[in-house]
Amino acid sequence: MVQGVGFRPFIYRTAKLHNLAGLVQNRSDGVRVEVEGPAHRIEAFLSNVLENPPPLARISSVTSGEIACRGEVDFSIIESDALTQADVHISPDIATCGECVKELFDPGDRRYRYPFINCTNCGPRLTIISDVPYDRSRTSMSRFPLCSLCRKEYENPLDRRFHAEPNACPECGPRLQLLQSDGSELPGGDPVTEAVRLLREGMVVAVKGIGGFHLAVNAANGDAVERLRIKKNREEKPFALMVRDIESAGRIALLDDEEKKLLQSPERPILLVRKKPGAVISPAVSPGLTTFGIMLPYTPLHHLLLNKGCEVLVMTSANEIDEPICIGNNEAVKRLSSIADYFLVHNRDILVRCDDSVAVSVMNAPYFFRRSRGYAPAPLLLHRSYPAVLALGAHLKATVCVLRDSHAFLSPHIGDLSTPQARDFLHETVTLMRRIAASEPGVVACDLHPDYYSTRAAFDMEGVELLRVQHHHAHVVSCMADNGITGRVIGLAMDGTGYGEDGTVWGGEFLIADECAFTRAGHIHTFILPGGEAAIREPWRVAMALLREHCGDEAQALASKLALIPDGVDIEFFNEIMRKKVLCPATSSMGRIFDAAAAVLGFRSVVNFEAQAAMEMEAAAESGECGHALSHEVMKGNGAYQLHLAPLIAALAHDRLEGVRIPDLARAFHRTIAEALADVAGRIRIDTGLDRAVLSGGCFQNRILLRDTVECLRKNKFKVFYHRRVPANDGGIALGQAVSAGARKL
Ligand SMILES: [Zn+2]
Ligand SMILES: [Zn+2]
Ligand SMILES: [Zn+2]
Repeated sequence: MVQGVGFRPFIYRTAKLHNLAGLVQNRSDGVRVEVEGPAHRIEAFLSNVLENPPPLARISSVTSGEIACRGEVDFSIIESDALTQADVHISPDIATCGECVKELFDPGDRRYRYPFINCTNCGPRLTIISDVPYDRSRTSMSRFPLCSLCRKEYENPLDRRFHAEPNACPECGPRLQLLQSDGSELPGGDPVTEAVRLLREGMVVAVKGIGGFHLAVNAANGDAVERLRIKKNREEKPFALMVRDIESAGRIALLDDEEKKLLQSPERPILLVRKKPGAVISPAVSPGLTTFGIMLPYTPLHHLLLNKGCEVLVMTSANEIDEPICIGNNEAVKRLSSIADYFLVHNRDILVRCDDSVAVSVMNAPYFFRRSRGYAPAPLLLHRSYPAVLALGAHLKATVCVLRDSHAFLSPHIGDLSTPQARDFLHETVTLMRRIAASEPGVVACDLHPDYYSTRAAFDMEGVELLRVQHHHAHVVSCMADNGITGRVIGLAMDGTGYGEDGTVWGGEFLIADECAFTRAGHIHTFILPGGEAAIREPWRVAMALLREHCGDEAQALASKLALIPDGVDIEFFNEIMRKKVLCPATSSMGRIFDAAAAVLGFRSVVNFEAQAAMEMEAAAESGECGHALSHEVMKGNGAYQLHLAPLIAALAHDRLEGVRIPDLARAFHRTIAEALADVAGRIRIDTGLDRAVLSGGCFQNRILLRDTVECLRKNKFKVFYHRRVPANDGGIALGQAVSAGARKL
């Protein structure tokens, strides 16, 4: 990535520094540099280029050779040669760089405390574009003509702001405004100073950021956080935090070096980290969990708000549950006036929504739960070229992907496609990603699920060839593409739910797969979901089904000893449903096994969001000891290995009643699942000779499960592949669909 990142001015400066003549030019295959001068200076120039490129540049290879001298005396940046639109990638939005932060707080600088300071190395990109190629006239900065000082910087190759499209200053650029909840301007002083005061007083302030609005509140103020929770529909999902700097982060969280590095990276994801005991943060921030999601300031406005204000702010996406993040000033006031007390807004429009990215550090590398701001839409480099494909992804955590040559352009996070707003956002994103990738693919890939909105949208597209990719196959292929591998592998897709080829709900799958096709070599032995969808919100139902499968009529007595069934449930009616098998879809879902285990261990019989109980069980397992793995059984039936996990759920119930510590049982449960997965994979290896295991699916967001499974598989001499750049959850499905469809068209 050497275009749009200040690479040519960097070459210009470096050549000048070494007193070399020549030229630099963007070309469709990269950057071409010609330098003329004594050999030793050219060598020094080249090593300088390789050792110290601009922060956002990525050099994949350099080739050099001698050409005839031209007798040049100056160094020049010349116009691009036959550069197609597709070759100039749109950069992701990048956090304010160190140099800009320094100027922001320098009373002598002309941009002192200016909330829109940026340069070639930092600032908004994707979120301000209205079209491609990237140029100020096609961004929301087009309405702010550059003043003479800014223009000088913009036109000077030696300046850090040479061709920085969002360049601005207090003279010519965007401005802040502080509004009251009715949308009228709050009279008084500087909006930042006022907002800081209001946050200190415990007010909820909606803050316009890079890719949308956040709701901000003082994280140390328990009443304020509670109030925000109640206003946000009482949901229990953890709130993200923004901390002043890395030292502040260290006061509330236990951080290792990799985590510190990720927090300070230019992409600035929300990082899930361990809470530090005694941290002065309201427990309402992430109830029931031992982790926080934290990030460092990534816009000048964030720096200004945190520098002299609260040390830690809750910064949660401003939206109703499951709706896309809010971006317009009027839209924000309309949608959020019942939640926010004040609005800190500005007149630089956000043209593309982009939620914060969410990652965790696993085995000393970043591991994504959501790949969005800071990363998207930078293309993922694949190991080979494919025909053009548009993939429309899954239904939850939706993203879309455009495949062109060896690049996969995976979109920012779109979210849950249940609302009309999210569906509009899907269509906007499809248009955007086609433009960014400069491709109008004639092949469209989608899921098998007939009720996914993305599937229906694919069917509605005219004049395209439709290819459908099974959900768990897409998971496995996404992880293969993520790791740059091809050929046949053993794919372990452990998931909530996905539509199976036989029309049943799959979710604990062992696939012998390549990019084009798969066979279902094994799966979790199917069990029933009493009440269908209700069983996802009420894990006790799944637990009862599994206990009954293993213990028969004894299940009822076990359940009452465990206090498994919530008050007020008509148990006769429930038993009737199970006996008659009405409203009882069959599933092989690993996600539901985790829910059932968490219910049996007393974490939650009813959840407020998917995987809530399983996340609490994972948190407890962190402090547990694994005495021994519990039982699982593998049998062969219907031509596939059947992994029976009802005995495991029953064993947890019995051990709990015998007084074994809950954290130890939670730990043993994870270990048992990991060993069971390695066991089944081992049998498939004996049958096939395949020794590469590929791990994907939402359950692998569970770090204990991921680490244990990797360890068990490696102990059995497997080569193990897990996600590196895209999420294991449904956020990666579009990539898998795209690559699978592309491979079929080769
Ligand atoms: Zn900068
Ligand atoms: Zn200016
Ligand atoms: Zn999935």
